[in-house]
Amino acid sequence: MKSALFLIPISAIFLFCNCASISFFETHKIPYDIIEEEDYLRGRFEPSTHPLFVNIAEFGIPCNGDLFLRREVAIALKEMYSAIKKDLPEVKFWVQSATRNWNAQKAIWEKKWEALSKTVKTKQEIASEILRFFSMPGTSRHHWGTDYDINILENEYYTNKDGAKLYKWLKKNAATFGFCQPYTAGRKDGHNEERWHWSYVPLAAQFQKRWNELFGSEPNKIIAEEQFSGADEIIHSAAMYVNAIDKKCCIQ
Ligand SMILES: [Zn+2]
Repeated sequence: MKSALFLIPISAIFLFCNCASISFFETHKIPYDIIEEEDYLRGRFEPSTHPLFVNIAEFGIPCNGDLFLRREVAIALKEMYSAIKKDLPEVKFWVQSATRNWNAQKAIWEKKWEALSKTVKTKQEIASEILRFFSMPGTSRHHWGTDYDINILENEYYTNKDGAKLYKWLKKNAATFGFCQPYTAGRKDGHNEERWHWSYVPLAAQFQKRWNELFGSEPNKIIAEEQFSGADEIIHSAAMYVNAIDKKCCIQ
């Protein structure tokens, strides 16, 4: 696994999601406001105090506690939630997790690392196991204020009853509101399928492009100020995990 990843050239990595041709990037400057771009894209800021973020509960979006997204994303999600309520009044919809900064992602990573290190032998094996469903700090789409998890974090939930109705609706309609499912079934690399994770394409595709430009070929810059367990073993694969997403999550 490790040696195979080393053999992937950077040019091949970008084939997973060729966002480089997005003309939108050339004409729009993405606002980061009070945060430097390199810090924003690695989640090294506090979303609850960032002026471009909003508490989605205050937008009337059902959610699990105080959760934050960028204002543009919350507006689009509120519109989509209204459409879901209209089409599927019997189905509950809520946001389980939204923006997670470096510290939150690192806390998840270290908790899982500690638990797995009791049974799994090598650092590479521990990292690979965590990476099935969780990103390294500094590489998560949850850093960008564009991505959120809904309802239940299990693929099986979306195969029957209300979960299946909701997933079918999202597959058909989410794109109308700008949303895509990055971690679909059938991709060869990266994180496993996640039917609960949705992303706001108009902004996320731009952030992904800039992340690639800043860190894609220099992954050690991700951990320049702060490390996490196993970082030395796995940071070389950061771009592969960031880019192994569904093509619908790129602006075509
Ligand atoms: Zn997620």
